[in-house]
Parts: sequence; C-alpha cells; structure tokens
Amino acid sequence: MTVSPVRVTTLRCEYLTNPLGLAARQPRLSWRLEASGRGVRQTACQVRVAGGDGDLWDSGQLATDQSVNLVYQGRPLASRQRVWWQVRVWDEHGQATAWSETATWEMGLLSADDWQAAWITPDPALAAACPRLRTTFAVEAPLETARAYVTSRGLYALELNGQAVSDWLFTPGWTAYDKRLQYQVYDVTHLLQSGQNALGATLADGWFRGRVGRRYGEELALLAQIVLTYADGRVQVVGSDARWKAAAGPILKSDIYDGEDYDARREQPGWSTSGYDDTAWMGVRLSGEPAAPLVAQMSPPVRRMDTLRPVSVTLRPNGEWVVNLGQNMVGWVRLRARGAAGATLTVRHAEILNPDGSLYLDNIRAARQTNTYTLSGSGEEVFEPHFTWQGFQYVSIAGYPGTLTPEAITGVVVHSDLTVTGHFECSHPLINQLQHNIVWGQKGNFLDIPTDCPQRDERLGWTGDAQVFLRTAAFNMDVAAFFTKWLRDLAAEQDADGAVPFVVPDTRRGVGATGWADAAVICPWTLYQLYGDERLLAEQYASMQAWVGYMRTQAGDGLIWDSGFHFGDWLAVEAPDPQFPNPVTDKGLIATAFFAYSTALLAQTAQRLGHTAEAAEYTALRAGIQAAFNREFVTPAGRLASNAQTAYVLALQFDLLSPAGQVEAARRLAADIRQRGAHLTTGFLGTSYLCHVLSDHGYLDLAYALLEQETYPSWLYPVTLGATTSWERWDNIRPDGSLQTPNANSFNHYAFGAIGDWLYRVVAGINPAPDEPGYKRIVFRPRPGGSLTWARARLDSQYGPIESGWTRTNEGLELSITVPPNTEGIVYVPAAKAEAVTEDGQALSAATGVVEVTPGLVVIRVGSGQYAFRVEPAGG
Ligand code: BGC
Repeated sequence: MTVSPVRVTTLRCEYLTNPLGLAARQPRLSWRLEASGRGVRQTACQVRVAGGDGDLWDSGQLATDQSVNLVYQGRPLASRQRVWWQVRVWDEHGQATAWSETATWEMGLLSADDWQAAWITPDPALAAACPRLRTTFAVEAPLETARAYVTSRGLYALELNGQAVSDWLFTPGWTAYDKRLQYQVYDVTHLLQSGQNALGATLADGWFRGRVGRRYGEELALLAQIVLTYADGRVQVVGSDARWKAAAGPILKSDIYDGEDYDARREQPGWSTSGYDDTAWMGVRLSGEPAAPLVAQMSPPVRRMDTLRPVSVTLRPNGEWVVNLGQNMVGWVRLRARGAAGATLTVRHAEILNPDGSLYLDNIRAARQTNTYTLSGSGEEVFEPHFTWQGFQYVSIAGYPGTLTPEAITGVVVHSDLTVTGHFECSHPLINQLQHNIVWGQKGNFLDIPTDCPQRDERLGWTGDAQVFLRTAAFNMDVAAFFTKWLRDLAAEQDADGAVPFVVPDTRRGVGATGWADAAVICPWTLYQLYGDERLLAEQYASMQAWVGYMRTQAGDGLIWDSGFHFGDWLAVEAPDPQFPNPVTDKGLIATAFFAYSTALLAQTAQRLGHTAEAAEYTALRAGIQAAFNREFVTPAGRLASNAQTAYVLALQFDLLSPAGQVEAARRLAADIRQRGAHLTTGFLGTSYLCHVLSDHGYLDLAYALLEQETYPSWLYPVTLGATTSWERWDNIRPDGSLQTPNANSFNHYAFGAIGDWLYRVVAGINPAPDEPGYKRIVFRPRPGGSLTWARARLDSQYGPIESGWTRTNEGLELSITVPPNTEGIVYVPAAKAEAVTEDGQALSAATGVVEVTPGLVVIRVGSGQYAFRVEPAGG
C-alpha cells in the first residue's frame, strides 16, 4: 500500500511544545498536517503514547477528522511521568501517513504528598529586601535526569552552580495567590555535576507584597525541590529545608512600580556555587504552608523577547543623558558602565518628553520607574534590573561616568513568550503603522496577565480591557494558554454571588461593572470560537452562569439593569464638536445590553455543552431582556434613549432590535458619524464593535472612512503624531498640542487597538465559522474598500497557515486564499455572477465547488490548498 505524502508535524500538548509539569490528567493532543495539493483531509488517526515501562495508549485507528485537542484516553498518568508520543493519520484517500516525529510531555506533581521540600523563609533578623537563600548537596554518578519544582511567595530567581536555571522571568507568575499558586518545572540535568552542587534563590516582593498587588502575606518564602533520577533507577530528592542559609544580596530595593536599587559592591561572586563560603550567612526558618493549592504553570513564560538600539543619545544641560529607544516599549535597559566604586547611576523612564527635552513623568503617577546602580569599580559592569519592569521610550541617566555612547545602552523587550500567529498588511502606510502599534500595545501589556498599561501605578488585569481586545490579540499571537490561565483566576476570584472583580487577579478595586465583568462570559466563548476549546468552555461554565445569575438578581423582574457602579463607555469622546455634542451613553442601557449579550452567549454555551434545559432557560431569559430593552430604551420611531453612537452600536451588535429597528438604528448611527465629518465618539465598549456594526449593516464605506480618518478622534490621529503603541485615549495629545489629564494618559493601552479584529476579519476577510469553531471551517470574506488597493493577512492557526489577500487593479480583483489541510474554506467572492470569476485561469465550474450565487456575491466551498481567484471588473 502506498504511503500518504501528507506529513504530520507540530505536535503539541495542551497548546505547548514538549511541556514539563502538566497538571491535566487527560492532556489534549494536537498536530498539523502538511501537504501540497488540495483537499487534504484527515479521515482517521492513530496516537500511540509510551511511558517508561511500556505502552500507555494505542488509540488504534480512530475514525475522526479531529487533529486539535484530542483527549488522551490511555492508562492513568502518574506524577512526574514522562511520556513519548507519535501520531499518524489517514488522508482523504484512506492512505496512512508515516508516523510523526516523537514528542514528549511530562506530568507535574499531581498530589500534595509529592512535595517533600519545606517552605522556608530567611531568619527574621535578616533585614533584606531581596534575600538570597542557598544550600549545597551531593550528586552521584551517573545521573539520568534532574528536575526542579519551584515556587515562592514573592518572586524568585533560581541558580544552580552559578547559572540561572532558566530564562523565565517573574516566576512564579501572578495568580490569585490566596487561591492558586503556580509552580514551575525545569530540566536541570545539564546544570548538575557529580560531587558537590549548590542551589541558590533570590526572592523579591513582586506582586505578592509589593505595591502592585494586594499584600497577600508578610513573609517571602521559597519552596524548591530537585528530583534526581539516577541511571540505575534510584530517585533522590533535594528540597528546601531548615538547613539552608540566607543573606542579603546586592539588590537593596525592588518593586514592580518603583524599580530597583542595586549595589554592585555587595555582589557575592560565586554565591550559588558549592565552593562559596557561607559561614557568615544567617539561617532560615520553616514557613507555613500556603492555604492555596499548588498548580503547575501551563502557560508560556515571560522572557526577554527582543532588543532595541537607541536612535539618539543626548546630553542635557543638567548633565543627564536622555536616550530615545525609538519605540514605546516594555522591559528595561541593559546598561554598560565603567567607573569608580561607589558611583551611582540613576535611570528614569518615560513614554514622552517635555518640550524642553526632559522626561515627562506626570502620567506614570505614583510609580517611580527608577533604577539605580552603584558601581563596584571592577572594570566594565553590565546592569539590568531583576524583579521590575518599566514602560518607556525614553530614559534619562544621571551620574553616568564619562560619555554615554549608544553601544552602552540596549532596550530589552520583555513579555509573555506567545507564539506570533498573525500578520496584517495593506496598501495604506498609516494603517500598517496602526497595526504595528496594536501589536506593540499587546507585547507591552501581555506580561503573564493581560494588563491595562505597563508604566503607571496600575499594571492590573482590567477585565474590560482584556475582553474588548481578546479577539484582536488572538489574531496577533497564540493566546489560548495565556487566557486559560487568566480565566481560572477570574473564576477563582468571583464573589459567591457571581460578581466579577474589576481586575483579575483581584486587588479589591470593586466588582460587578458591566462590560468589564462580562469578561467572565465573553472570553471563554471567544476562546472557544477561536481555538475550538470545549474543555475550557466546560471548565468556565459555572463562572459564566454565576455572572449571568448576578445580573439577573441585580436587574430584578423588570430585567432592566439600572443599578450599581459602572464605568460605562469608558473614555468615550464627549464633545468633539460643540455643534454636535455627544450624549453620554446611559449606563442602564449599556448594562442591560451586556446582560442580554452575556445571556445569549451562555445559552449557546449551554447548548454546546449539552445542557439543553438550561439552554432553553437562558434563551427565554434573553428574549425577556430584549423585550424589556425595547420597551425601556427604544422609541417607536427607533431612536435609542441615548442618541449616542455606542448605544446604537451595542443594540445592533447584540442583536437587540427588530428588523425594522435595525435598519433605523444603523441609519441613525451612520447619520451621526457623517454629521461629525466621519468621526467616531465611542469609548472602550463601543469602539471594538463600531466598524463591524457598520460593515454588517450596509455601511462598509463609512467603516473605511472611520478607519482612514486622520483627524481627531480617530485611530490614525495618534499615528499621524508619531505614536508607536496604542494610546489610552483618543487624544492623549490634543489637537492643540496640550496633554490630556495625567491621571489617565497612558501611551501604551491596548483597548482601542480592538480595531485590529476588523482589519483581519473584514479588510482581509479571515473568520472562524461559528458552527465549526477553531478555524476547522474558515469563512473568507474580504471586503475591499476605502482607498486601499491591496490587503493581506495571515493567521497561523492550529491547522496551519490561513492566508487571505486581495489586490484591486483596472483588470478587476484578485483574491488569493490559503486553506490549511484538514479544514475547509467558504469563500465569499464579491462578483455579480459565477461566470465573472476564474480560479487559476479556469472557469469556476472546472476548479471548485460553487455552493451559492447571489447577486453581488459568489460563495464557493473549497478544500485545503492555495487558490487564486480573479473577478472581472463589473460590466466587463
Ligand atoms: C484603567 C483602564 C480600566 C479603567 C476602568 C483605568 O485606570 O487603566 O484601562 O479599564 O481604569 O475604568
């Protein structure tokens, strides 16, 4: 029998490549098919999984087309168990492929009993902001593998024999520390030597008891356990215990908001090696066990992701150097200096400059964002902070010995290491810069949790911001595991009555705000749409129900939710034009609209999960809310109680109006935009849906006019002023050049970047089909418009690359489409009739399956492969 030419590649387990320390007892497995040609499909698959002592699972030939998140069905998996797995598939001709390469995963510590190490904290007499802890231990030969299982209260950085155990930053990450505490698993085999070894950890306040968090506890503490497996099968455990030693290190102070003070004269060379003399060190004490369960980290780590070179270095009259990195970025600067012992350099960070060239610091509010380094005088010294990050484009350096050269400065870009999956580009350079700014807004704010901003005294997991930006984020990067982690914290932080905090992890700023708390429902549903993740949906279902239940109680029998505190359409444009003042969108209208929307998504979720009775109940509830909404907020003539853009946008997007009401609402929305000279007035909640509503309701041209608008308020206005990230407000810098209030004027806030979703889905035309989520079926519906002559996008989906691009010329329209193997595409070609469309020079009938032709639209169903459609110009 011939072997299929299809190759099985990119094996992943729980969204990760060869993960260590899985918590899921039935991990899910995904792979890709790679093949040239068209119509490649999986008709069956076989997975085999082997552990140390034989087969754990041989699925046999499974008649399924599922190649994403197939649930492991083998023998139960034990703590620390390492397994190897492979897949082969049968293609559309029934031919089997070769076996894939082998991938692995390894289980974490599945039960509390697996922890033999003890929690330790430095002797309380040790006054140290960032204490160091160390121990030594013997290793015999020959060693087969060694793993470190580590967590802390506070942040930790671990070293073995003088080397960092990994390049992961800000471990153990930020979770609801009082409810779930993550541990990390590292392969440390290569760092160990036979004979004496040393293990050292530095601790810092971080989110645990620094200014950013909520002071989860008083004591910094470490839990570290190294499991050594010898070639003869013996297992030895080295763990944190009362025999460890502790001392202060060179970090004198460290806080996420404020920055770090480092004194190189206090370095202790070799402190994490076995030869180091620690007789002067103090002892440690056992520290209590946390109430929160320890959970394995199953999301990508934070890492140094990129470096930037300065674009200018300027000496100011006061002797400070000001460096421009050319990009508003998040991370820190790496600094080289040579000077006398005791000389101190002070590095400050800002997003913009004052007119006189000094740093503008007002908008970082009470965050100091300042690092200081005191030189040891030992020749060239290189500094980076350890447990803090800054949001900035400019740094000022005071006290630098000698002349600061560009070579002495590097911008180190730090964020969660999420795989880049998206690319969007078009013929309009300012829109390309907008896309760049959106991506950098995402980089700067996806640092273990989705944050609002990276620079001022905030940096919190604002639920509303995350909710509006998620769809865009999921085009640009693979955010499945990142958001899965965050949603677990969201559910853990929910109040007993279902109220969802403003920020997750919760620093107790408040709960239950419409459009923010709805993240509980919108995010899991969106992730299900984009990644097909049904397990996540099932896991979050109770949280989703609880939030809808909360709203139901608040709204009472009238089903109008008109109480409580709400941010409303946050940062909406209030009066861009005194001639046409923009009424604030009524908060009761917004809250009732989101109540209806979340209930609708919950009804669909219940249906998907097979909870039929609940689905019916939520469907009926949603119908009741819709009726109440119409009675309360819609006049017989179709005007909404707030004659504001966001009111119309939400009513249309959430499908709350009658068919005639929709036409009227869209007309009123369009008229409002037009009378303002093609300008929007929406805030956080209206903006993410605005262009979708216009393009869905017959106003594509107006959506493009908003997109291409360069005057305030618009997406391109900041771009024309040289922005390199998304701004918090439409007018951080007002048209007259003055700055908005420093209380809320972040130059790195992603919420308005939610237009990115429209670029991918409408301009380029890549959409998941709702009935086959996760891009198993892809709807290609590019909608050329505005002044654009071409656009193209790529999404590296779980099935492989999806591409959609178009070019308009005098000869007509060219569409090129890539459909990954094991998926199908539904292509909407803007053409009057099927005869006007060719594919690769052939009549459609010869090439592909036309499923539908309606006036102005030819709909074609295609299997995997690359397609080049051409549409004759109208009348041609
Ligand atoms: C944050 C926002 C957040 C808002 C709530 C702000 O301070 O930066 O992005 O959503 O508060 O209104």
